[in-house]
Formats: sequence, structure tokens, C-alpha cells
Amino acid sequence: MDIQVVGVVGAGVMGIGVAQNLAQTGHQVILVDIADRILEKAKQEIAQNIRFQGFFNKSEKIENPSEILSRIKFTTDYQFLESAEFIIENTTEKWDIKKEVYAQLDAICPQETIFAANTSAIPITRIASVTERSPKVIGIHFMNPVPIKSMVEIISGYHTSQETIETVKKVLTQMGKEGILVNDSPGFVSNRVLMLTINEAVFLLQDRVASASDVDRIFKGCFGHKMGPLETADLIGLDTILFSIEVLYESFNDSKYRPCPLLKKMVDAGLYGRKSGQGFYAYK
Ligand code: NAD
Repeated sequence: MDIQVVGVVGAGVMGIGVAQNLAQTGHQVILVDIADRILEKAKQEIAQNIRFQGFFNKSEKIENPSEILSRIKFTTDYQFLESAEFIIENTTEKWDIKKEVYAQLDAICPQETIFAANTSAIPITRIASVTERSPKVIGIHFMNPVPIKSMVEIISGYHTSQETIETVKKVLTQMGKEGILVNDSPGFVSNRVLMLTINEAVFLLQDRVASASDVDRIFKGCFGHKMGPLETADLIGLDTILFSIEVLYESFNDSKYRPCPLLKKMVDAGLYGRKSGQGFYAYK
């Protein structure tokens, strides 16, 4: 059975990308966030992203933004998620927030609905524990920007069923993506490595070993990476980086995950990276 109606919870950096991708691959999307102004901004960003895609990708026929947007219902009312066959959750990387979100989803959605958590570091088994449907809870760690990244990490929680894994693979294929299946662990594979790398790069900056652009140039020029760790941090969002490294620190009780004070200071100062217009670099 093809999944047609997908609930996307959280309309920030990732929720916007997931909703756009789903709508562009013909799905009906119910996009939920906590405030109308956030949803209005999401609508504008999706329209702009589609226009950019058309501009940079002239060989491919990109559908009109208004047709794609017509497949997305923007709402603050969770009750609409009752009709979703599949949920992709993309709320803030804070356990206190996600815990409440899953309790709400569990009460509203039919028992057969699968919950896919798009989290950076929170263990899927912990998320499943606050629901009554552990076999139907799984992780999909999407990469940013979602519509143009074709690979994701799929995370199997302790109780995730094979049937759930198969359905998720099907949904991902429908979205034009491929998944690499890994076992549950805080940060999974990608972010257990990436968050440490970014955090250490911020320490290098704090210790005045090199400028931000020189740190990034070393990774690009010497290792052939497309982006350096600090540019990547700006793309992800410094708040999300801090929350993720805090999850790793708390989960492993290992001091190697202690967040760099400069990272904390930048988040306190509202320097979140691209989404706020200023991070390690200035945007706009
Ligand atoms: P973000 O801060 O840009 O967006 C989070 C959104 O969640 C906000 O719009 C917020 O209003 C909304 N939200 C908060 N509480 C809510 C609730 N109760 N109900 C509905 N919506 C609520 O964060 P993001 O970067 O989009 O990250 C979302 C999730 O995806 C996080 O768990 C993050 O770790 C993960 N993730 C992020 C990236 C990345 O590159 N940014 C990559 C992969 C995964």
C-alpha cells in the first residue's frame, strides 16, 4: 500500500524541507507547528525554495509552487493528524518538547500509524517509550537541505518491527531517497561523529588556533569535503548543534561531549547560523 497522506510535525528548517519534498513527490501533507506566523513563514520559504530549484535546475521540469503548496495543509491543530497514514516529527531537539509531542500524537493517531522521528541525537527507544506503539516508532535522520539530499540514516529502535522498517523504506523510495539502516544509539552514526567534530572546531576557534574560514578551508582543501565543520554548523543551526551535543553528553556521561563555551555563548546571543542571518559567518 502506498502512503498518500503524511503528517509533518514541526515547520522549522527540517520540517519545511520534509513537507516540500513530500508535496513535490505527490503526497498530501499536513504540516503542524505551534503558531500561525511560523506556518506563514514556512509557506513563503517553501515557495522560495521551489523557485530557486527551478532557477538552478533548468534541465528538470519543476511544478508550479502554488500547485505544490496546494498539497500542504498548514495548521496549528494536531487533530488533523488523525487522518495521516504516516508521521514525520521534526520538532525542536529538546526531550521535554518531543516527549509532549509524542504523547499528543499517540492519543490522536490511529494505532497503525507509524511515527518517524527526525532527530539529531535523541535515542529512538527513548522516544518509543512514551508511546503505546513501540514497534511502530522508528528514526529517519534526514539530511539538510532535505529536497536535494538523497541519502538518510534509518534508525531501528529496540522494539521497531521489520514491517515498520519495510514501510519506511517504501516511503523513502516514494520521496526519491535511499536509507542506510543502523541500530539505535544516541547520535546514531552520523551525529556521534559530526557533533564532536563541530564542537572541536568551535574549540579551535575559541582557542584562537585559526579563523573560522581557515578551519573550514583545511577540511575542504586538504580532505576534499564540500563544506567545513563551521559552515556545516551554520547550515544545521547552532541551537540544534548545542541541543544535540547536550543529548550526547547526558546520554553517554562522557566529558568528551561537553559543549564548547563559545558555542553556548553564540546560542545565548541568538547567533543560530543561516536561519538567524549570523553564525560563524554572516548571511544576506
Ligand atoms: P528548528 O528549530 O528549525 O525547528 C523546530 C520547529 O519545531 C520550530 O518551528 C518549532 O516551533 C517547532 N515546534 C516546537 N514545539 C512544537 C510542538 N509542540 N508542536 C509542533 N511544533 C513544534 O529545528 P530543525 O533544525 O528543523 O530541527 C528539527 C529536528 O530535526 C530536530 O530534532 C533536529 O535535531 C533534527 N535535525 C536537524 C537537522 C538540521 O540540519 N537542522 C538535520 C537532521 C535532523
